[in-house]
Amino acid sequence: MLVKTKKRIYPKEEVCIGCHLCEIYCVLAHSGTRDLIKAFKKKDRPSPRVIVEEKEGVHVTFALQCRHCDDPLCIKACITGAMHRDENTGAILCDEEKCVGCWSCILVCPYGAIRRGENKKVASKCDLCIEKGDPICVQNCPNSALELVEV
Ligand code: SF4
Ligand code: SF4
Repeated sequence: MLVKTKKRIYPKEEVCIGCHLCEIYCVLAHSGTRDLIKAFKKKDRPSPRVIVEEKEGVHVTFALQCRHCDDPLCIKACITGAMHRDENTGAILCDEEKCVGCWSCILVCPYGAIRRGENKKVASKCDLCIEKGDPICVQNCPNSALELVEV
């Protein structure tokens, strides 16, 4: 039986200062390089999988975090098997090699947690930095506005 991940990233909007460093480090972490300049110059640069939104007056809110659902509609809708649950961690991941950019997963996700890749025709979603230890956005937020929680 597959493990279901119990990890979720939660935002603490009240202490977010809107610096966007979480987005920047997310791009870096998924770029295949450790060099920030090289990462941002890449033509197929990955999209950030965490988004900081600014609303009038009240500074910021975070959105679009995958719930790694127990019964994931994105996996059911995926026509190629690209969207899958990682057997070891239980996280829902997208295998970019298999993704054909049909966007079925985007249509069915009830939380709007999947986006189109900006520079590559693949589905883009938070993978909890599953191969890198704790999520990079959580590690690099200067004001501890993102928290990894076991639910
Ligand atoms: S992408 Fe959406 S449907 Fe799929 S596991 Fe995450 S929250 Fe659930
Ligand atoms: S966009 Fe990619 S991951 Fe999403 S349903 Fe289509 S093939 Fe699967």
